[in-house]
Amino acid sequence: MTDKITVRYYDGKRNVPFPAELSSDGAYLRIVYGDGQTVFHPLHQAEYIAAVGGIPPVLELPDDVRIEFIGNEIPDWLDLKHKTMLRHVGHFEKSWKWVGIGFVTVICVIFVLFKWGIPGAAYHVSRSLPDTTLKQIGDQTEQAIVQLTKASGLKPERRQKISDLYYKTLKPSAPAKLVFRNSKTIGANAFAIPNNTIIITDDLVRLAKNDHEILAVLAHEQGHLKERHSLQQALRGIGTGVFLLVITGDSNDLVSSLPATIAAAQYSQEFEFEADLYAATELQRLGLPPKHLADFLLRLQKQHGHEEHGATNLLSSHPLTQERVKRLETLSAK
Ligand SMILES: [Zn+2]
Repeated sequence: MTDKITVRYYDGKRNVPFPAELSSDGAYLRIVYGDGQTVFHPLHQAEYIAAVGGIPPVLELPDDVRIEFIGNEIPDWLDLKHKTMLRHVGHFEKSWKWVGIGFVTVICVIFVLFKWGIPGAAYHVSRSLPDTTLKQIGDQTEQAIVQLTKASGLKPERRQKISDLYYKTLKPSAPAKLVFRNSKTIGANAFAIPNNTIIITDDLVRLAKNDHEILAVLAHEQGHLKERHSLQQALRGIGTGVFLLVITGDSNDLVSSLPATIAAAQYSQEFEFEADLYAATELQRLGLPPKHLADFLLRLQKQHGHEEHGATNLLSSHPLTQERVKRLETLSAK
């Protein structure tokens, strides 16, 4: 018989702990409790459960019988393999190393969620929404832009010429409604809206050196429409907002929203590259060099520094513009 140790014993009938003495002959656990009552349990039936948080290590036995070790004291005579495991699990929880690994894991999960989870969901939702919903969302966006802007001051002949560029030269398979607007505050800008509408401003038309550049911008916007970028961007924003609200209870918290902000910047770049590639392919199909778009982007950057267009950036940052121009020039050289 081994040394006795003091434990808490639950007999499985009453949910009350009894102070008890535990010992073993190697095959059986011997428990003495109450007024000298003695019970035996086969040792091999005992299941070891590690200490977790404030809960002490436990031996569980059939019929809801349990033995709780006091002060995490596990007797030396308990099967060594099990005990090592027990101590390890108890140790894991206390170790900063494991806390660190847990933290890194959480960060990785969040990163994967932001990088692929939300964008993936936004992509699929944007493609599964019915046309009526797209129209509703788009109509509201269009209305908001129309309210912010004034009627176009371009001559009807000029507008007709640009419409012809879009409908007759570019000839997209799902032609959008082309809307001309004017605004001092918005400046040179273009919007691709989910209700299959493209809005371009007078300043954008004036900034273009030739019609090839306007055609390039229209092709770029058509790329945004085709890929449903503005809708995806909005859905990503909603997804991110809901996620932040769930984990922090405060979507305005700067630190917690930082990854989302960085991620959002990444989204725009990726969408711009996609729309540029679409435009470049279309220009090449028409026998025009993609350089026309690059030329226009550079002029836009020079004039405005940065521009926003719709939910996506036509020109979101200088490094991005440089990168886009570089890519377009590479495409032109092919
Ligand atoms: Zn764009």
